[in-house]
Amino acid sequence: MYAPPGVKTSNEMAVPDSMKAWVLGDPGELKLVEKPVPVPKRAEVLVRIDAVAICATDLEIIAHGPPALVQGGMPFNKNWTPGHEYMGTVAALGPGVDEYRIGQRVTVEIHAGCGQCKRCREGMYTSCHNYGLNYGDVDKGHRANGFTTDGGFCEYQVNNINTLVAIPDAMSDEEATLVVTAGTAMYGLTELGGLVAGESVVVTGPGPIGLLGVAVAKALGAHPVILTGTRDNRLKIGLELGADHVVNARSEDPVAAVRKLNGGKGVDYVVECSGAPNAVNEAVRMVNRGGKVCLAAFPHEETPVDIAHIVRNNIYLFGIRGEGKSATHRAEAFMSQKRFDATKVHTHTFPLEDLPTALKYARERIDDAIKVVVKTRASAAQRVAAE
Ligand SMILES: [Zn+2]
Ligand SMILES: [Zn+2]
Repeated sequence: MYAPPGVKTSNEMAVPDSMKAWVLGDPGELKLVEKPVPVPKRAEVLVRIDAVAICATDLEIIAHGPPALVQGGMPFNKNWTPGHEYMGTVAALGPGVDEYRIGQRVTVEIHAGCGQCKRCREGMYTSCHNYGLNYGDVDKGHRANGFTTDGGFCEYQVNNINTLVAIPDAMSDEEATLVVTAGTAMYGLTELGGLVAGESVVVTGPGPIGLLGVAVAKALGAHPVILTGTRDNRLKIGLELGADHVVNARSEDPVAAVRKLNGGKGVDYVVECSGAPNAVNEAVRMVNRGGKVCLAAFPHEETPVDIAHIVRNNIYLFGIRGEGKSATHRAEAFMSQKRFDATKVHTHTFPLEDLPTALKYARERIDDAIKVVVKTRASAAQRVAAE
């Protein structure tokens, strides 16, 4: 019976001592093992994970390692659990926690900063200076679940209360896993200035962050919002999420097309979500003089950039890491008000036991997969269907 000292539990929600968890072995190798259920410390809760979405970064980490950083090094063969876009139900409270109650449904942000470094004090906890310092004798209180600490491809995880976002009953488990994705797009727009009503925005790259970037920009009042990409099925979802125009970069020059759609002028903002090698050079030609470009994706290789064009035109470039400045809370507010339907990017659901299949669907985009969600608990409807 799970009853660690100082931790508050409830008979209504009994917690087992051990759980099923996927762990990363060698690159690309995942094993389903039994692990002890983790114990929340001060300012932390235990979350029973109900659903977890697969992110392109998970595929990257499982195959290659970075940006995960476990015990100061590569994440392989450390009994470490990946996965970071999860939601669930509060199952136990660490010492002194009264901000959440057992049984409450929550979704999570990834980064819990240390709360004491210069950047955390400025609210930039996704750029915490103590990133990854949470192992051995060094414990700065920093967590980035699924990056530096155990993540969500399992049944329970501990989260700092600062990383929790309460969600309404009406929001499905699947939709709740998408809050942090919308939050990342929201953070990008925040760093660009945040006030985009009546201003023109281009989003390049219709992956989950790009598609929800369209939705968030539109909800913030941007006009026009133009989405560029190479897959018509994804561009169509962009239109459903509020894009005023879409451009297929395979059939026309995206820079010329954007300028034409914006009355012959460059736009005010570009949110770059494609990571294509030439994306920065295209983005700085899509914006007007003094325009701002947010980089939310990146290519693997170093890439030449036309700095003269950036300097001569006073263009601003912003790199963003994660979902900072409480953007996830603001994204959740839009979603609970149904300002856009994030579930349009959710395409497939698998049980936790089938994680390798779920990863394959996400990686190979089988059946036009965009966001693939893994559920630890079959919903009532699924259980009935199975019986
Ligand atoms: Zn992610
Ligand atoms: Zn910090």
